[in-house]
Amino acid sequence: MRAAILFGPEDLRVQRVPDPEGEVIVTVEAATTCGTDVKMWRHGHRALGPYPCPFGHETAGLRIDTGERVLVSDSVACESCPQCRSGRPQICRDLSWVLGGFAERIAAPAGALHPIPDGLPAAAAAMAEPLAAAVHAVARGTACADPAILGGGPMGLMIASLLTAQGRSVTLADPHPERRRQAEQIGARGVTELAAHELVFEAVGRPEAWRAAIGAARPGGVVVLVGGCPLGAEVQLPTGAVHYDELELRGAFHHSRAEVDAALSALAAGHVDWRPLAGDTIALEELPRALASGAGGRARKWVVDPRL
Ligand SMILES: [Zn+2]
Ligand SMILES: [Zn+2]
Repeated sequence: MRAAILFGPEDLRVQRVPDPEGEVIVTVEAATTCGTDVKMWRHGHRALGPYPCPFGHETAGLRIDTGERVLVSDSVACESCPQCRSGRPQICRDLSWVLGGFAERIAAPAGALHPIPDGLPAAAAAMAEPLAAAVHAVARGTACADPAILGGGPMGLMIASLLTAQGRSVTLADPHPERRRQAEQIGARGVTELAAHELVFEAVGRPEAWRAAIGAARPGGVVVLVGGCPLGAEVQLPTGAVHYDELELRGAFHHSRAEVDAALSALAAGHVDWRPLAGDTIALEELPRALASGAGGRARKWVVDPRL
């Protein structure tokens, strides 16, 4: 089969590889790209195996054995570590990653599969993976008023969609006017800078954005750090603000199985409109160029259809 294989930083090649082996084989119909893919492509990632390695973690398609339409979640929690046992599988210490969506077929354990609600296109279902992380991020900010989001990429816009669907008034900051416009289309207020919010979601994933998010929280506020910084990044945090202003910093990482199902339901019910986030549908061969094309302008996710 054809697959996009990562050989090293910024070295992605589409080539013929042996068919994958595993519990269930899924024919890929849509695999969406995300900011994590760009980070993985550029810097590597702890979830990647040794190079050369399969790549792509937002994947939907057809089970070869049953013909059922499924979302392939990017991981399976162990269910036995202390974190899993205390109800926090997002931070499982023994997560098994399921990568390789940028390929004609992917092998997955049955525990990674989620049935796709009827009528939901494969490209939309693939986006349930990042949306599940947004569902988890929103849960990490529960019980706080006045939510604000730093960063109008797909993750920031998904968090904004979930919050506006709850009837909450949301402010989203991004320097790109097109992304502010996207935020306004989903009912959020688009601004260039945040100031003095009780709840701030950081959805950029850069050290300076972590600092800006902390600076945008009012005394006693909560900052939810959603965007992961690149491996080894040094982040100098304003510890004085954390102490004297009693700011609470909460990480938000990944998602649980239930949060993936909640994301699929939100998409199927139309609470989150995936269409504005979908960029062009492209063939596997176009993926290296798409990842290199940068994130400026409108927030979008490329939809890779390996059948093209
Ligand atoms: Zn992703
Ligand atoms: Zn675990």
